[in-house]
Amino acid sequence: MATDFSALGIRREINDILRENGITKPTAIQVQAIPMILAGRDVVGQSQTGTGKTLAFVLPMLEKIDSTKTHVQALIITPTRELALQITNEVTKLADKLGINVLSVYGGQDVDRQIKKLRGGTQIAIGTPGRLMDHLRRKTIYLSGVTKLVLDEADQMLHLGFLDDVEELVRQTSPKRQTMLFSATMPSKIRGLATRYMRNPADIRVQTQNVTLDEIKQVIVEIPESEKLDKLCSLMEEYRPYLAIVFCHTKKRAVAVTSALIQQGYDADELHGDLSQPQREQVMRRFRDAKIQILVATDIAARGLDVEGVTHVFNYDIPRDVDSYIHRIGRTGRAGETGMAITLIDPHEEPYVRMIEAGVSVSIEKHKVSGQRFLTKDKRTVSRTDGGQFFKKTFEKKEETDGVSEKPVKKKAESHGGANLRSHHNKSKDDQKSRYAKKDPNKRVFGKKRKPIER
Ligand code: ADP
Ligand code: MG
Repeated sequence: MATDFSALGIRREINDILRENGITKPTAIQVQAIPMILAGRDVVGQSQTGTGKTLAFVLPMLEKIDSTKTHVQALIITPTRELALQITNEVTKLADKLGINVLSVYGGQDVDRQIKKLRGGTQIAIGTPGRLMDHLRRKTIYLSGVTKLVLDEADQMLHLGFLDDVEELVRQTSPKRQTMLFSATMPSKIRGLATRYMRNPADIRVQTQNVTLDEIKQVIVEIPESEKLDKLCSLMEEYRPYLAIVFCHTKKRAVAVTSALIQQGYDADELHGDLSQPQREQVMRRFRDAKIQILVATDIAARGLDVEGVTHVFNYDIPRDVDSYIHRIGRTGRAGETGMAITLIDPHEEPYVRMIEAGVSVSIEKHKVSGQRFLTKDKRTVSRTDGGQFFKKTFEKKEETDGVSEKPVKKKAESHGGANLRSHHNKSKDDQKSRYAKKDPNKRVFGKKRKPIER
């Protein structure tokens, strides 16, 4: 197996930048995908969450860009703005030093600025389907010179809702293009659909025993809906995350959970599709900087986001399909770190647990707390100023979801594969600590920041 990136055909200059960023040894998906992509093959790449798929397509792409030509040569399409921005930042770090220009093209941004930048010569464009289509219609972007096309989170990109736009974008690219699909999950139906745009794709699946990372400890906590918030708070006290993401099924629930957590004195903020673009960017920036410790989000945060220091993922609402579960919990345990995923379920949601367990082929540890509350109801309802009415009222109405997670419940698990970064990383505990130490280690003061409980 290759011991460094140059053995895979990546130039010294790029190697050096990677090394400066602590990336020295390619992961399994990188070892397999990079030479194949450099050879010009179409690729479907599947490996577990957090195993370095981004660099697997970015590095060979950078090798092939001609910086003397000013047209868009490579296009990376992502399902969310947050992911487009994250990949842009990752690519820019490398591209800047090679004289390659990168532009992110996603909704909610200043269009004029994007147009100006596109005119100035952009070789790599990264964006969401909606805004890319806008530019196509305004004729402010030309994709006919795109010879490298990546669909990141490909299974989601080829799902209803995105499919029409993505197909149109694909049609606009060069017929001679190389097409690359990456995801941790790839249902066979979607895989079949994708081959329509591809020429004899190399099927790269990094096989592992488990669909989810071994590094992620998974737990189910059964608790009646009315007691979920109390339970969430007590779990925060028990586990004391460094950073945590709490996933909710709808925007409204995310808003309500956020206000309730803030009311309880937690450093929390929300991320969902109802926020303005500057708000979305600010929340993500503050979360990455550990200025907020709990990000309460809809499934817009489920795919691809790589935030250092996320030690815990809470499913305040159990995901309605297996792949959502895999992606959500994959926001922790990244790049060889450990993590914990806690899913709260109301007793009647038990069938979803069975579906997820079948899908990930793991029996998840269960904590039943109904009827024998961890915190007595008396204690907590008094501590909460509104005696729980806030939640009851907010959740009574039927709500819309954030549009990215609405998929039919699957009957049967599809094939999943992936690799585990740990074997490549060989990170010691000290290394792990130093990864977090880059942020403020004194931030681990969860309980202390809380307001005193009123009795
Ligand atoms: P995926 O797309 O598979 O979920 P990412 O591409 O987001 O994973 O990478 C996850 C994390 O691993 C990122 O922080 C990235 O910088 C880091 N990473 C990628 N490749 C390597 C490597 N070879 N060695 C160490 N860390 C890596
Ligand atoms: Mg990814």
